[in-house]
Amino acid sequence: MKIIAHKEALKSHIQSIKKQGKQIGFVPTMGALHQGHLSLIEQSKQHCDYTVCSIFVNPTQFNDPEDFDKYPRSDAKDIAMLESIACDLLFLPELNEMYPEQDQRQFNFGNLETVMEGAHRPGHFNGVAQIVSKLFDAVHPDKVFFGQKDFQQYVIIKSLVHQLKMPIEIIACPIIREQSGLAMSSRNQRLTEKEKGQAANIYKILLEAKSNYRDYSPQSLKQKMFESLVQIDGLKPEYCEIVDDLELKPLNSWQTDQKIVACVAVFCGKVRLIDNIVFNL
Ligand code: AMP
Repeated sequence: MKIIAHKEALKSHIQSIKKQGKQIGFVPTMGALHQGHLSLIEQSKQHCDYTVCSIFVNPTQFNDPEDFDKYPRSDAKDIAMLESIACDLLFLPELNEMYPEQDQRQFNFGNLETVMEGAHRPGHFNGVAQIVSKLFDAVHPDKVFFGQKDFQQYVIIKSLVHQLKMPIEIIACPIIREQSGLAMSSRNQRLTEKEKGQAANIYKILLEAKSNYRDYSPQSLKQKMFESLVQIDGLKPEYCEIVDDLELKPLNSWQTDQKIVACVAVFCGKVRLIDNIVFNL
């Protein structure tokens, strides 16, 4: 696997790959890789001729400085994992490569950024848009692969690509879970074994909600989910929301042609976890 740290070197390498008529697939990550990330690389390898992964812990998307400081970093292990599945190229820039100066750009995602993660993590999606647009500029991918795990982020990236008129296809990939049901996440490394057991209840509660959602109104089901999460020792829910998958509007009734997605953010100890489930699949 080729490893490149500088944007200009990356751009000229990508140009030479494109000249060979190859389609570029791209998987941006913040490292501390797990099977969820690797599933995106596998998807890219299936859909494209040349797969690029990036690892960059992006400071501008962290609204909590402690979360940024404690974010797990494991470059050597990540590189070995990427090599084991024959990823073609890793872009591994330093901070000043991506942010030679403060990035003042402000994006506007309307309603998409005022709900859920946007409401609870001020500035988060602006930071995501800053780094993702820079990465897309550098990699020039044909297709990009994002996890449904970060469902709202996926919707925001669709809007970003539309706004910037980038000719990029965005492919959403399913959530990969531990055997316990806990959605894989780099932040899970910060959980104790006991906390992992507690956190596994998040998916149980999402599944339970899906199993009989039509017996409730969206409003009462959200409340029921919230209360179920509160009941679990060690869990502290931040929000439960039930939205459509296009505009992320909180639903008032089940009558919609769109996908219905229940999303939660839950603290387990000091670690903030997110998860979601599609009801009507
Ligand atoms: P991150 O490194 O957390 O920024 O994630 C990089 C990409 O991996 C994003 O598109 C995430 O949605 C995706 N991802 C993270 N966890 C999972 C998972 N458990 N299953 C599928 N994709 C995931």
